[in-house]
Amino acid sequence: MVNVEAEAPSTRAKDAIPVAEEVPPFAFVLVKLASRCNINCTYCYWFRDAEVYNKPAVLTVEAEDAFCQRLEQHIEEFELDHFVLIFHGGEPLLFPKHRFVELQEKLLDIEDRTGCEISRGVCTNAILIDGEWADILKSYNVTVSVSLDGPPDIHDKYRVDFKGRGTHADTLRGIEFLRAEGIEPGLISVCNPHTDPEQILSYVVEKLGIKEFDILPPDATHSDNPPQISDYFIKLFDVWYDKYAAQGVRIRTLDAMIQGLVGNFSVSDTVGLGPIETVTLMTDGSLEPLDVLRIVGDGSTKTNSSVLNNALQDVQNDPRWREAFEASMELCETCQKCEFLDSCGGGHVAHRWSPERRFDNPSVYCDSWKSIFSHIWKRISPTLIVEYETDAASSPTMPNA
Ligand code: SF4
Repeated sequence: MVNVEAEAPSTRAKDAIPVAEEVPPFAFVLVKLASRCNINCTYCYWFRDAEVYNKPAVLTVEAEDAFCQRLEQHIEEFELDHFVLIFHGGEPLLFPKHRFVELQEKLLDIEDRTGCEISRGVCTNAILIDGEWADILKSYNVTVSVSLDGPPDIHDKYRVDFKGRGTHADTLRGIEFLRAEGIEPGLISVCNPHTDPEQILSYVVEKLGIKEFDILPPDATHSDNPPQISDYFIKLFDVWYDKYAAQGVRIRTLDAMIQGLVGNFSVSDTVGLGPIETVTLMTDGSLEPLDVLRIVGDGSTKTNSSVLNNALQDVQNDPRWREAFEASMELCETCQKCEFLDSCGGGHVAHRWSPERRFDNPSVYCDSWKSIFSHIWKRISPTLIVEYETDAASSPTMPNA
C-alpha cells in the first residue's frame, strides 16, 4: 500500500510552477571539481561533448576564488538562508585533498558571514576514497552518492577503467572506507534494460544493506535510438512494491513517479513537471546549464557567462541556459495532451532532444514512460485515499489507466 493521501492529478498545483520568464534566485550549483575521470564508463554522458577536453583538468584556483566571492554576493543579494552545492566531475575526487579542505573552509567562512546554510554533497565512483578522504568528507559534513550499477557481473560490464577492467571491487573498497568513518552513502545506478532489476535490488538491499538509492534510465536523445526501458522499470516497480517497499526501501525515481501520479510535485530530473534551474560551474569558472545536456553534442552547453566576469544569476540571460530552462517547462504538443503530463512532465529534458526539433519532442522513452506510468497507476490506485474537492466544477479526473 502506498501511504499517501492523494490529491487528484488534474488539481495539482500547476499554478505554483513559475512561468518561463521568471527565474527564481539560484539556490543550487553543480560544482565541477574535475573535468576528467579516473575510469572510462562506456555510457558516460560527460565526454560525449569533446568541448570538455578544452577545460582545465581540475577547478582552477582563480575560478574557485571567484566562485566563492560570487556565491557570497549572491547569497547576500537574494537573502538566501539555504544553498546547495554538489561536487561533481568527471571524478570530483581527482581534486587535490588539500584544496578540497581549503574550499570547505572558505564555505564555512561564507556561512559564518552570511548566516546561510550551505549543504554539500559529492557524487563519486568512490575508487579514490581512502581513510583520509572519508575523514575529510565526514569532518565537513559532505553527503556522498556513489555510482554503482549492481553486482560485479552487471557493474563491470560498463563501468570499466582505461584498460577495460571492471571497477566494482575498487568502488566497494571506497564504500567500506566511508562506512568505517560512519558515512552511509547513497547509491546511483544506471539501468541496463537487458539485465534483471530484481538482481540489482536484492544485491543493493540484501548484500550491501543500502535502503535509499536511485536507478536512472541511460541518457539518450532521439538521435540515439536507445532500447526501451518499460519492461525493466515495470519489473523494478513490481519487485520493489511487492517485496521491498514494506522494508522501507526507497528508489528516488519510483518515488518521483508515484508522487507525480498522486498529484504532488516530484523531485527528480528524470520525470516530473517543473523547471530545471541547474547551474553548472565548470573548472575554468564558466557557468553552464544542466550538465547532462552535453549528450546533445559538441559545445551544446557552452555559454558566455563565467564567475570571472559575471554574477551567478547572470547566466539566466544566456541563450543556451535559457533554452534549457524554458524547455523544461514549455512541453511539446504531444506532452501537453498526454494523460501523464503532470507525472511524467516530458521526462528528462535532455532525453527530448532531436536535431530537427531541438527540445520540442516527447522523451525518447515516451512509449516506455506511458507503459510504466499506466502500470504503476493500476497497481497503486486501489490503495489510495483520494480527497476529492467538493466543488463539482473542479471535479478531478484520474489518468486513464
Ligand atoms: S509519457 Fe510521453 S507524451 Fe506523456 S508527458 Fe511523458 S514524454 Fe510526454
